[in-house]
Amino acid sequence: MTSSDTPATWAPDRAAPSAPWPRPGLREGLWRGARGRCPVCGEGQAFRGFLRVAEACGHCGAPLGRLRADDAPPYFTIFLVGHLVVPPILMVERLYTPPMWLHMAVWLPMIAVLTTLLLRPVKGATLGLMCRLGITGEDQKA
Ligand SMILES: [Zn+2]
Repeated sequence: MTSSDTPATWAPDRAAPSAPWPRPGLREGLWRGARGRCPVCGEGQAFRGFLRVAEACGHCGAPLGRLRADDAPPYFTIFLVGHLVVPPILMVERLYTPPMWLHMAVWLPMIAVLTTLLLRPVKGATLGLMCRLGITGEDQKA
């Protein structure tokens, strides 16, 4: 077997992905996004409604509308809320053994409220993470 018989091995492109805007640091991108600010400049609004991402930052013009977080924010939110709520539920059950209706009356509204409150900051932080990682939607342009 000669070297010409073996197929060329694929190597990933390790060059830093290009972004149409300056990439924020990890912490600042997450923090700015979690506060609902543009992850790039920290000044403009990242959201146009409760969860709708603004087409572009009003301050720096970063095309935030191109960032497609898709299902990542709900996934991260469910993961976070589950880790915040399940241990107290188990602890209360172990210590007091309340009836099931009381569990449902207390924990279900708490889960709904926590999920609603955390979804927007988590989505913003996801946008910040995407900006940091260079996942800008450039490859989605037609
Ligand atoms: Zn901006």
